[in-house]
Amino acid sequence: MPAYRYCPQCGEPLEVLPLSGRDRTACVAHACGFVHWDNPLPVLAAVVEYDGKLLLARNAAWPEGMFALVTGFLERGETPEQGVARELKEETNLDAQSVALIGVYEFMRKNELIIAYHVRATGTIALSEELLEYRLVEPEKMRVWNAGTGFAVADWLAARGHPVRFFDRQSGQDIDDPRQAPQPGTPGGLQYRL
Ligand SMILES: [Zn+2]
Repeated sequence: MPAYRYCPQCGEPLEVLPLSGRDRTACVAHACGFVHWDNPLPVLAAVVEYDGKLLLARNAAWPEGMFALVTGFLERGETPEQGVARELKEETNLDAQSVALIGVYEFMRKNELIIAYHVRATGTIALSEELLEYRLVEPEKMRVWNAGTGFAVADWLAARGHPVRFFDRQSGQDIDDPRQAPQPGTPGGLQYRL
């Protein structure tokens, strides 16, 4: 189902038209020109290091046992570093002492682009109502999931010489690094061509 049926600028029904190499939902009313480009939305993610451990949180909407990084959207007028520090404060009450880019990761399933930071945090944890519970995991014992934010954790662990162990969120079983031996054009596969 399309995100818009009517033009948010002029209220006319939208049509699907080929534009810039793809079919786009666009307004054909005279002199309007609205196009729903549907570009991926940037999402900030924090690999939070607190007291030497990594903080994972469970969203109130998630099933029991499912934990992930603190994430949030960038607000207008803030840098991504400010945004990730603000999200951390809002969701956990922790203060970011340092914010360093880990990498940028695809999250095509939700049409998002993940910008992942390592955040050293201090303070007293108090979760927002968005989060139900948290875990503090020693880096050596960390298991990472097969998705964009999981790859950020994997890269952070690998850069510090920690073991990188992937697991399947459905079964809970360990799996091989899904990024190894990528097929050309496979989403999530890292391809280095030097
Ligand atoms: Zn319009």
